[in-house]
Amino acid sequence: MEKFIIAHMYPDLMNLYGDRGNLLCLQKRMEWYGLNCEIKNISLHEDLEFSQFDMIFMGGGSDREQNLVCGHLLKRTDQLMKLIESGLPALFICGAYQMLGSYYKAQDGNVIDGLGIFPFHTECRQGRLIGNILIETEINGRKTSVVGFENHGGRTYFTDPIIKSLGKVIKGYGNNGEDKTEGLIYKNLIGTYLHGPLLPKNPVLADFFIHNMTDRKGIKLNRVLDDTIEKIAHEQVKNKILAE
Ligand code: GLN
Repeated sequence: MEKFIIAHMYPDLMNLYGDRGNLLCLQKRMEWYGLNCEIKNISLHEDLEFSQFDMIFMGGGSDREQNLVCGHLLKRTDQLMKLIESGLPALFICGAYQMLGSYYKAQDGNVIDGLGIFPFHTECRQGRLIGNILIETEINGRKTSVVGFENHGGRTYFTDPIIKSLGKVIKGYGNNGEDKTEGLIYKNLIGTYLHGPLLPKNPVLADFFIHNMTDRKGIKLNRVLDDTIEKIAHEQVKNKILAE
């Protein structure tokens, strides 16, 4: 059975609202596709070599954790950038997503340097952006809705129109609560404010990552999963958000 390794970056520091569940979802779906998926936990003390991974995942964290982790990653930014450019699948949620930009300014004015991989920055303001969120996006040329939950003080602003948001906000706040953009998509990387069970509630996104992983290894998936239940869950949440 073909084996894949997903790096779970700093699970002890960056794991809010059950973000880790996304990995369980990927692992289970990969098993259903007949693939073997190992999750490798990466800690701050690890000597990182990203090229051994088929995908990178990092959940959200508070400002304190964001600061610690960013210091560790800054020394490896070049390596990470090259792999993202080559199409490495990656999912960065909330605080982890913010880290991909040039800086994060906390509410007390303290500035945490970001990795500067993408032209955007984030500034924390009073009043957290909390609640359910519904966005519209296009994955592999197909329009789809994505449902989730967000909770962030940071407002993210793109500073170069060259980067593409993950989608358009239909309900909720997204990147900054103003311009109706949410997250970022670049090649096989997604950065998003959507916490918790993002992939279980949006199997299209889970398959986006799985197909990218298999494509990179030249493997063709010859099965289609029965997502009847997942689709019902998605629709239920979507209708609930629309009715809020
Ligand atoms: N520091 C961030 C913010 O509040 C990230 C929080 C999170 O990951 N939920 O904007």
